[in-house]
Amino acid sequence: MSRYREPVCRLCRAERTKLFLKGSKCLNQKCPIERRLYPPGEHGRARRRILGYGLQLREKQKLKRYYSMSERQFRLFFQRAEKKKGITGENLLIMLEKRLDNVIFISGFSYSRAHARQLITHGHFRVNDWKVDIPSFQVNKNDIISFRDKSEKHEELKAIVESNKTKAVPGWIDIDWEKMKAKILSFPTREDVTFPVKEHMVVELYSK
Ligand code: SF4
Repeated sequence: MSRYREPVCRLCRAERTKLFLKGSKCLNQKCPIERRLYPPGEHGRARRRILGYGLQLREKQKLKRYYSMSERQFRLFFQRAEKKKGITGENLLIMLEKRLDNVIFISGFSYSRAHARQLITHGHFRVNDWKVDIPSFQVNKNDIISFRDKSEKHEELKAIVESNKTKAVPGWIDIDWEKMKAKILSFPTREDVTFPVKEHMVVELYSK
């Protein structure tokens, strides 16, 4: 899979919104978006009107970057969402929320989604009693996500969990901070996705 190796804050500036890609830096005054809410580059400050296809493209890029996914992975998720019953855009958002890397991040077990993906592929997590090293794994109701025995004692991982104890966790996940475990209480709904995105535009873009 190709990896984005440039500074990730440029992505937020390109989308003119916070994508929360850098852990605690995203929540304090060091976040570049607080000072420079315009795209990077020589013509970043130029006034540009984005219409039609451009708007759809920006919504897709924003969503894809928010979940730290490649174009290929994202399109695959879209194709799966299309095949499901219901509204494709909502299906897509719910499937993205249910990704294991997203659940690890919003549960406060990693700095960012990209960091969650790295921890998962390095084999630090279990879902129920099974080691899962696939970041796109879809969690299910009543699944229990925990660190593997060795990882539980890892000082850096313990420190991350400790520092996130005050973090707001969505209602569909229950966290046992002492045992460093997350339980999936229900499936997320559209309302649980607080990131401002017009998913119908993503559907329109891919339906052309
Ligand atoms: Fe960088 Fe995070 Fe701010 Fe985005 S939200 S610009 S990743 S610090």
